[in-house]
Order: sequence, then structure tokens, then C-alpha cells
Amino acid sequence: MITSLRGYRTEDRRALSLREPILTLPASGTLVVPLPGAEEGTARLVRPGDKLAAGQRLSLPRRSAPAHAPAAGVAEEIEFREMAVCGPVWTVRLRTGGERRASPLRPLPDRPEDEDVLRAAADAGIFDEMTGRPLFQELYRLRRLGAGLLLACAVEDDPWCSSACAVLREDPEKVERGLRLAAVACGGAQIGAAVSTRREEAALRRARPGLRVEVAGRRYPARAFLLRRLRAAGVSAGLIGPQALCALADAADGLPQTSGVITVSGDGVKAPRNVRAANGTPARALLEACGVSEDVSLVYAGPAWRGSALTDPDAPLPLHARCLTAMLHAERRRQSACIGCGRCGRVCPQGILPWQIHESLRGEKVEPYLLLNVQSCIGCAACTAVCPSGLPLSAEVSRAAAIRKSGDFL
Ligand code: SF4
Ligand code: SF4
Repeated sequence: MITSLRGYRTEDRRALSLREPILTLPASGTLVVPLPGAEEGTARLVRPGDKLAAGQRLSLPRRSAPAHAPAAGVAEEIEFREMAVCGPVWTVRLRTGGERRASPLRPLPDRPEDEDVLRAAADAGIFDEMTGRPLFQELYRLRRLGAGLLLACAVEDDPWCSSACAVLREDPEKVERGLRLAAVACGGAQIGAAVSTRREEAALRRARPGLRVEVAGRRYPARAFLLRRLRAAGVSAGLIGPQALCALADAADGLPQTSGVITVSGDGVKAPRNVRAANGTPARALLEACGVSEDVSLVYAGPAWRGSALTDPDAPLPLHARCLTAMLHAERRRQSACIGCGRCGRVCPQGILPWQIHESLRGEKVEPYLLLNVQSCIGCAACTAVCPSGLPLSAEVSRAAAIRKSGDFL
């Protein structure tokens, strides 16, 4: 009988993009800004041809957070479209230009109450990059759950993504300021940070000696394991993205959230790094800033198990995208193409682990006991469809089934 699950270890490729500090990209000529929750016409506050000031409110949705113009310019088009990471959403196509700035939002009082913080998080249009939900909703949820500990979460399950880590490393003081405000909104919870490794723990302890630090490790799903460990110790904890916490600290000064930090990485990127980009920046601008290879065959936005494969290099990215990964074609790599995202295993209706079959078939000798359950494959190809590395998993599982049937393991 299984008594506990330990997860599986993902390859850690974050060091590549953490070598350089966060690069701030100037606003592109065209931004496509998502307006989440603005399905009703009255929730959209702009019309084609409107001149917009930087920071101007673009929407007033009832069940989401408002969007603000990341730069001054002219609204060219209001369009309902599919957007990476967001799904189908209303958007404003903004041609940027000019210096006009909107008046700041209402800043927080010196001693804010819980409702003040929730109002500021909602007004500033902050999204928690860890969940993709508006921060004020996340804070309400944590308050309802009675979270006694709020952790700034720099634990990344995606092997390439390092944006949360980079934000916490570059501005731990601002993250802590945001945490203190979030704790007010959650009824006075304790605060701390969650990191992946002991080395990150030591660095954070040096930067913020008084801050509680939890180490989650690198086994997927590390965040779930951390919450389980804390629950077993009697601590009900909530995780919030460092970017959202920095944005909450800015909201206290009346600034809306209009940009996000995105890790541009993958083996198809020559100079992987973290880039701060305006909401709605096209993927191409980020990729070109980091030197994308001409041989790249697959680009996906967002962490591997939640993100979307892009079919258009000009696809715009929302501020909570977190990572943009460009991969070379599998055959061009010397090592395994599998990035350990686990998507294939999760979509398989038969409970097969296609990544494990892929690994088993790579060796000179095929171990029969590793070809688990391959006979039950129904050939639906769901695993092939979701694999961000473009591996022909369905064909490999079918080959494994043939090998197993024939007994030809060598
Ligand atoms: S093709 Fe086979 S291994 Fe792949 S998802 Fe379908 S049943 Fe699972
Ligand atoms: S085989 Fe593809 S989908 Fe499966 S874990 Fe590897 S990269 Fe992810």
C-alpha cells in the first residue's frame, strides 16, 4: 500500500536566467492589454480612437481586477480574442506614444485596516502570478480559510522559470513590505518566504535576517508538499507571488500594476534572463531581447503544466505570464528533450506515464518492468498534443507496447 508520495525531481535550469539582473524592456510600439472579467460592455471603459494616459483605468469588471494602460497612446481596437495564459478575453490594442500620465490612485493611510488593503489591491489591478487570480480575491480566500502564515512564494515547479526567485532576490525589502500589507488584509497572519533550495534560504536570511524562510525542495509538486508539511505541523499557510506583493507595496503609494517579470529561457534562447515587460507585450519583443535561436521549434508561455504553446510569435503576454520558454527541436539536442513537466502523465486517461516510457526507450537496453501499463494505451495521442517538447509520445508508447508483447527487450 502506498503510504506517502514524494513527487519527482525536476531538472533545475533556473541558474541560466538568474545570472543577470532583471532587464526592463521599453514599451513596444503596440501592446495588447487584456481586460479580464470585462465581458459586459459597461465594464470596458475605452473606445477605439481614445487617447490614453499611462496608468489610466481601462476596465471596471465586477468579478475581476481592473486593467490600466501600461503606457500613454491611442486605443486602436477593442477586440475579444484568445490570449496566452488568459484564455478568451476582451483586449485593448494600444499604439504607444506620448508622455501623458494619469493621476495616481488613492494611496493607503499610514495605518491601513484590512478593508483598505483589499480595496488598494483591487483598485491597482494586481494579479497573483502564482494562481493567475486577482490578488484581492486571493487575500479574501486566505482570510476565509484562516491562514495563519503568509509566504512570499519563490518556489518554481517549472524547470526553466525563475521570475519569482529573481523578484525576491532583487527586492526582498519591497516583497516584505507587500507581505506585511497582505497580512493586514488576512487578519494579522505571520509572514515569511518559501524558496526551493538551502542556498536560496541562506541568501534570503542574509538579506532579511528577521524573516521566516521555508525550504520546499525541488520535487514536483513542491508547493503542495510544502503546504502539506506545514499543515501537518499545525500551520495553515497561504502562498502569494513576490510580484503581486511588490505590486501591493506600490499600490500603497497609489501606483497600479502595469508590468510583470517574465523569465525568457529554454534551450532555444541564447541569453536567458528575467525581463520586466509592460502588460500585453508581444512574445517576439521578449524573445528578441534575449537572442532567440533561428532553429527554435516550440515556444510556450506560462509554466509548462499551465501555460499555452504559442502559434504566433507576436502573441501578446499578460503581466502574470511568469515565463516564456523557447525549445529547439528534440532531434537537435544531445540530451533528453523531456523537461519533466509531467503534463503527459496528467492527461493520459489510462494512467500511463509517457515521459517514463520515453526515458526507458532511450537506453541501449529496455527494462521491461519500466514499460508500465503500456498495453492499455488507447492511442488517443493526448500526451503528444500536450508535450511542450514536441516528443512523439503516443508513437513511443505504442512501440513500447509492441516491444513488451514481443519480449524483445535488448
Ligand atoms: S496515447 Fe496512450 S499514452 Fe498517450 S495519452 Fe493516450 S492513452 Fe495515454
Ligand atoms: S514527455 Fe513531454 S509532456 Fe511528458 S513530462 Fe516530458 S516534456 Fe512534459
